[in-house]
Amino acid sequence: MTKPLFDTLAIIGPGLIGSSIARAAHAQGAVRSIVATARSPKTRKRVAELGIADKVTETNAEAVEGADLVIVCVPVGICGGVAKEIGPHLKPGAIVSDVGSVKGSVVRDMGAHLPKTVHFVPAHPVAGTEHSGPDAGFAELFENRWCILTPPDGTDPEPVERLAAFWRLLGANVDTMTPEHHDLVLAVTSHLPHLIAYTIVGTADELETVTRSEVLKFSAGGFRDFTRIASSDPVMWRDVFLNNKEAVLEMLGRFNEDVAALTKAIRRGDGEALSEHFSRTRAIRRGVIEAGQDTPEADFGRPHGHED
Ligand code: NAP
Repeated sequence: MTKPLFDTLAIIGPGLIGSSIARAAHAQGAVRSIVATARSPKTRKRVAELGIADKVTETNAEAVEGADLVIVCVPVGICGGVAKEIGPHLKPGAIVSDVGSVKGSVVRDMGAHLPKTVHFVPAHPVAGTEHSGPDAGFAELFENRWCILTPPDGTDPEPVERLAAFWRLLGANVDTMTPEHHDLVLAVTSHLPHLIAYTIVGTADELETVTRSEVLKFSAGGFRDFTRIASSDPVMWRDVFLNNKEAVLEMLGRFNEDVAALTKAIRRGDGEALSEHFSRTRAIRRGVIEAGQDTPEADFGRPHGHED
């Protein structure tokens, strides 16, 4: 068994991501003990039943007392509030991190409340599923996925490397970039695809000439794949769009221009333009498979499918 990288890990919000971190950290012997806390008594009870933490506390403040690594795993809109609560209770020298899908707003909102005595290293594991809660988590979630670290300017490199080592031990590949660049990249690779899925599924639901039962019955024609993404947690995704507004609007503007170009090609019967575009996108799919981020089979084969 590996030598633990940290003594005590505190997980605030052991939902899909938080409970997967706890499970993976336990499986890999990455930490000596795990403390977890959730907002609702129901989740705290479930986490205790699942045995994914050594201790479950009632408050965020209690959870971080004495912890060497604190990972905040709540929706991005409330990360700042959690940082304010835990700030005075953090152990000097502790590493404080998060898993939020947006980084600029989290760096701003959490950074404002954390004491200078701790190391703040924001992170985003680009791995997930459309499911939520502690039962949805699994230890293999981060295997061969990327975890992006976005340390603010002037962060001590040693804690950044320690957190990177932690994520590598959980099976992830680690990359580092600025929060602004992260938000731009994720706007196109994750946030826009989710917005498109939410839109298409909503559009199909409002049709009058095609019945809802026909949409469900013939969903294997493509619609089905969008419904999985569009079933992702509404609160988490509301917070993503509210907190990555600029980058999403930028990507949405480009997307609308491209939809207009394809609309024109269809209207004009321009088959060459359509097949040229579709050949380009097919090559991107090959690139995703070559990068080990999906398999050629229709269903991914991992315990819950994937995505973020
Ligand atoms: P989740 O399964 O819904 O878990 C969220 C956790 O946050 C739960 O423990 C929940 O506690 C707690 N929480 C929710 N609202 C809260 C509030 N107002 N105050 C205090 N605690 C609150 O969500 P998740 O999918 O793990 O997502 C968590 C974070 O990971 C988000 O920031 C998201 O952007 C990021 N992320 C998600 C994915 C993904 O694919 N899902 C991937 C990468 C990163 P209760 O159960 O008691 O409500």
